Amino acid sequence: MSMGWPSDQQAGNGSGLGPPGRCQSWPRDRLSTIRLPRLPSCPAARRVAFLTVACWLSWACGRGEDSDRPSPPADSVEISTIDGRALAGRILIEAQDGGVLLEHEDGRYELLQPDQIADRERVAAAEPANARAFGQKILTDLPAGFDLLVTKHYVVCFDTSRDYARWCAAVFERLHDAFGNYWRRAGLAVVAPDRPLVVVIFADRRAYEAHAARDLGAAADRVAGYYNLLSNQVTTYDLTGSDALGPDRGRRPGATAAAILASPAAAGLVSTLVHEATHQLAFNGGLHQRLAPVPLWVSEGIATFFETPDVTSPRGWRGVGEVNLPRLERFLAGHYQGLIEKIIRSDDGFRDPDEALDCYAAAWAVTHHLVRTRKREFVAYLDLLAAKQPLETDSPEQRLQEFREAFGEPADVEQAVFRAAARLAARRRPP
Ligand SMILES: [Zn+2]
Repeated sequence: MSMGWPSDQQAGNGSGLGPPGRCQSWPRDRLSTIRLPRLPSCPAARRVAFLTVACWLSWACGRGEDSDRPSPPADSVEISTIDGRALAGRILIEAQDGGVLLEHEDGRYELLQPDQIADRERVAAAEPANARAFGQKILTDLPAGFDLLVTKHYVVCFDTSRDYARWCAAVFERLHDAFGNYWRRAGLAVVAPDRPLVVVIFADRRAYEAHAARDLGAAADRVAGYYNLLSNQVTTYDLTGSDALGPDRGRRPGATAAAILASPAAAGLVSTLVHEATHQLAFNGGLHQRLAPVPLWVSEGIATFFETPDVTSPRGWRGVGEVNLPRLERFLAGHYQGLIEKIIRSDDGFRDPDEALDCYAAAWAVTHHLVRTRKREFVAYLDLLAAKQPLETDSPEQRLQEFREAFGEPADVEQAVFRAAARLAARRRPP
């Protein structure tokens, strides 16, 4: 049953709601050569063009060639590139041939090939900029006309009305606090992000799509927002000024929360914002490291665990871990024996347009079940994943083994998940 989710409604091929996941091609022992991610050369990224996705967990596409693991992180550096750019930041990974994964001072990641680097020099770490100065730098990468809204934890760059930016920022701030409180109470060492979290909101859907096409390619016109692991930014557009809310189009950008939430499509739109912002929090709050081999069932399971909207409240969202009805129904409709083991072993199903929705639903179902019934083990498993480093890869066997050690046999877990989902659905059916 369609719950008015944009991905269900807009999917030309019946697939939906899922990012392509990352394109992992950094074999653990074959990291001598770092290749820049270039979407056109990334098979997984090409496939995303056929997905109706709600987000984009980005890509570190590359090819490893012979040799050893990269060296450990180095100090702060200034790098001059052969095309004349002056870059400053921290080297997170250095390959033996001199290619590097650079973390810019604003938190963006960039992979540099050795032949792109003209010169580099170790320097003292720069003092962190204050939030407004930090935001002003982000603005220089955006089209003219963008303004800043600085809140406690976020820098929102927008060219729509300040009212709409404020409404979104309030949702993000509530999520930020709820996310941290939830996992801290569960025993997880959530850390405060070391920089403001950046959200970019375009007034106009077309301008957003043009901007998003750099990251999403042809999928840009099918997603309402996305989180990019390399830029570390959530990007979206003013949903009240778009045609995404159906026939009542033409509302001025920045119309009230009531206008946003009055539409049947609102639940999906709010979910998208919260889903993407949850990814950003998880990757900045210490749950996962960006570009580390975090199984998609976990990162998407957590995002779908938090994404449940509350359109009866002008705030749009308040709950953590409510039953996610569209995911529950999809799971029960599309489940087959072995699906959960499949997503434990590999992320491929998330990238397949024919399977993505079922994989997302299974990710929600297994995460919801484990968090609700085996929280201590789930938190211990998250601790294990948090230690994984950028650009590492895990084999399917290793992923399976780590799951088995945390939770037992996948087939047993799957049975329990399915029974729990059936009970949840039965409780929601009228007698
Ligand atoms: Zn996602």
